[in-house]
Amino acid sequence: MIIVMRSGATEKEVQEVCDKIVQLGYKPHVIQGVERTIIGAIGDERGKGVLQSLETLPHVEKVVPILQPYKLASSEVKQEKTTIAIGKDVVIGGKKIVVMAGPCGVESEEQLLETAEQVKKAGAAILRGGAFKPRTSPYAFQGLAEAGLKLLAKAREKTGLPVITEVVDPHDVAVVEKYADILQIGARNVQNFALLKKAGKAKKPVLLKRGMMTTIQEFLMAAEYILSEGNPDVILCERGIRTFETATRNTLDLSAIPVLRDKTHLPIIVDPSHGTGHWRYVAPMAYAGIAAGADGLLIEVHRKPEEALSDGPQSLKPEKFAEMMKHLKAFAEAADRKL
Ligand code: PEP
Ligand code: MN
Repeated sequence: MIIVMRSGATEKEVQEVCDKIVQLGYKPHVIQGVERTIIGAIGDERGKGVLQSLETLPHVEKVVPILQPYKLASSEVKQEKTTIAIGKDVVIGGKKIVVMAGPCGVESEEQLLETAEQVKKAGAAILRGGAFKPRTSPYAFQGLAEAGLKLLAKAREKTGLPVITEVVDPHDVAVVEKYADILQIGARNVQNFALLKKAGKAKKPVLLKRGMMTTIQEFLMAAEYILSEGNPDVILCERGIRTFETATRNTLDLSAIPVLRDKTHLPIIVDPSHGTGHWRYVAPMAYAGIAAGADGLLIEVHRKPEEALSDGPQSLKPEKFAEMMKHLKAFAEAADRKL
């Protein structure tokens, strides 16, 4: 942290601040300028006093952090990109673009198995499907719960595709972990700290979605919760944020991809389905996501979107998904990646 003194602060006042810095457990380093004095407070912040409180002293102008508040997630701490192996064949964060596809919700055995076969044929590496659905309305389809998880396990057995599914309640982490290859934490739960801590104790990778009102710093702090509990396998997912625009369901923040790439070593996935809310806009934003440097995509696919129990309007029909995958190849290659 850097403590900037007000101009005209006396030597005695500077010394008072230095004494406080020592009391809080840091080493002060005074830099005397022509106009004003600044003091560096040196030391790891974890488990120590809060330096920001020095701003309450009358001769302190401001307290400025020089390091990011997230540590384990930060590229300041780990420069090389994190790669996460899922099963035997899939690596997230490597050269290959990983596409996760499937229905928003697991609705029935036929629906899931048929979709699983179709997305696999088109080149998806991971099957998605919600068994616990976080719905805005309590009257809307809430998911099949454990019965849905069992269907996902069955689909994995049949197709060989690893599965990703959402966990909504900290009490369900154990049961979701039993069936899933990746735990998904949704946008609405990005700051559910009890859930993040529980997922941090899980033995499976976690895909963490950005909340609709979450800054990139808050998003990375949420990832830090999982990492700091001992789970190193966190995948970040940009899925759109809420803005004044209503033509799309959310505003897919593609600039978050290069920003995250700069600030963290964790893999980054883009979800253009929730990002746009309309099937027509999914493919262009998927291409753009890969062009911007994402490691993969999360795409909703439904065999009959008109009959979907959730998120039908943004779901691709299997043939549209296959078409998108064909076109995606050129974008992946242009971004020096493989599909
Ligand atoms: C989902 O993936 O179906 C979902 C509910 O996503 P989000 O948390 O991004 O809204
Ligand atoms: Mn959905």
